[in-house]
Amino acid sequence: MIAECQALLGPDAVLTEPEDLIPYSFDGTAALKCRPRLVVFPRSTEQVAAVLRLARDHGLAVVTRGSGTGLSGGSVPVPQCVVLCLQRMNRILELDERNLTLLAESGVLTQEIFDRADAAGLFYPPDPGSIKISTIGGNVAENSGGLRGLKYGVTRDYVIGLEVVLADGSICWLGNKCVKDVAGYSLRDLFVGSEGTLGVITQVLLKLVPKPAARQTLLATYGQLEAAAETVSAVIAARIIPCTLEFLDRQTVRCVEAYAAVGFPLEAEAVLLIETDGHPAAAAEEAERIEEIARTHGALAVRRARDPAEAARLATGRRSAFSALARIRPTTILEDVTVPRSELAAMIRLIQRVARESGLQIATFGHFGDGNLHPTFLTDERDAAEMARVEGAMRTIFDEAIRLGGTITGEHGVGLAKKAYLRAQLGDASFALLKSIKRSLDPENRLNPGKIFD
Ligand SMILES: Cc1cc2nc3c(=O)[nH]c(=O)nc-3n(C[C@H](O)[C@H](O)[C@H](O)COP(=O)(O)OP(=O)(O)OC[C@H]3O[C@@H](n4cnc5c(N)ncnc54)[C@H](O)[C@@H]3O)c2cc1C
Repeated sequence: MIAECQALLGPDAVLTEPEDLIPYSFDGTAALKCRPRLVVFPRSTEQVAAVLRLARDHGLAVVTRGSGTGLSGGSVPVPQCVVLCLQRMNRILELDERNLTLLAESGVLTQEIFDRADAAGLFYPPDPGSIKISTIGGNVAENSGGLRGLKYGVTRDYVIGLEVVLADGSICWLGNKCVKDVAGYSLRDLFVGSEGTLGVITQVLLKLVPKPAARQTLLATYGQLEAAAETVSAVIAARIIPCTLEFLDRQTVRCVEAYAAVGFPLEAEAVLLIETDGHPAAAAEEAERIEEIARTHGALAVRRARDPAEAARLATGRRSAFSALARIRPTTILEDVTVPRSELAAMIRLIQRVARESGLQIATFGHFGDGNLHPTFLTDERDAAEMARVEGAMRTIFDEAIRLGGTITGEHGVGLAKKAYLRAQLGDASFALLKSIKRSLDPENRLNPGKIFD
């Protein structure tokens, strides 16, 4: 396999030495590692197809990888596998200003897509916290969300076409530039969020929207977590959908300030970072109404960003939450539960109780407007007793999320980290359906085996 890949792709596109394989042995998920047998870097769809055919001939598993920033172990290799890394398929192929679409190879960084659209006066809204380093293929494979999900939706809402290579090496185009198309099952949607288990996404056709003319940014400070949660429910109940409605608890605020000094208030128990956008008058009016709601629901202070530079600084503070928290203890486990927004206060209470009773450090931040929380365990994977407590605490949090009508993952996917909980989330019939889809597309279980389910 190694010799054939070298002949096919060129020697500089194949890694086999142990020291070269180490960086491809893990993703952004703590405590999950496995060294692959080789890593290959195709430059074209035809090369991807050829690698898949070689893997089939040699009976090897294939784990597709973008930038490896995933937070559920999706691109962690399985033993003796081929890692198919798409980072060198990194060209934006077309920006179609008449149809408002952008066609990119899967290895393009999400930030580059945003920037290219922005330069043309257009907008690609999905903005995962990892936007500067994750690939668009990884975003599609995880159906990633982001800070603007509340108003603009998630990656799926912008994917209108995909080029996919199937396990047997065949290449299909799913979707097109049409606004409407109901010819056959929506196969394109099957691959969004498929976590590398159904096929390799090689090209992505994205829908763009006009760039909003204005933005307003607010920072609301709270003395109690629950007041922040109630503000969110009240804003939504008032029929206002801000672009961003992010939450950071006390510990996260303090860590971010120590790390990036963006101007978050250190005395806060919680802060909400809120952004409105659209027509200047609409963005301003929404911001005013939100400020009023925040004050009537217990905000100690509400501050408006004075200029775009301050707004950008505050957004950067929120985006650096994970990196800031990762400095506290040796192991950072960032979790990802979502509940209906009406249940946010109940979920926050549960997380606080779990932290108290288990003696664990759990900092929480997240996309509050989406009901999406990231309880983040600051721990040490070398301490087996503490890790057992983390495991127990996670189970309690996931069980409660399901009980409240929520989900075990809002955006990071199932991968390896959540597969033990998936059946409880879906129920037997849906779980069996999922497995039967996998069997029909990848009967030899060659693509990312052992992810999502065994
Ligand atoms: C600091 C930080 C902040 C983050 N913030 C967010 C956030 O706000 N929202 C969010 O949703 N996620 C977030 N993430 C998680 C992560 O960045 C996303 O899941 C991202 O989409 C992964 O992209 P990647 O290129 O790194 O993919 P990888 O991690 O390499 O792969 C992820 C999964 O997709 C599969 N895959 C990758 N490329 C392809 C392809 N071309 N074809 C088929 N399958 C493929 C892999 O097999 C794997 O299962 C964050 C991560 C970090 C480290």
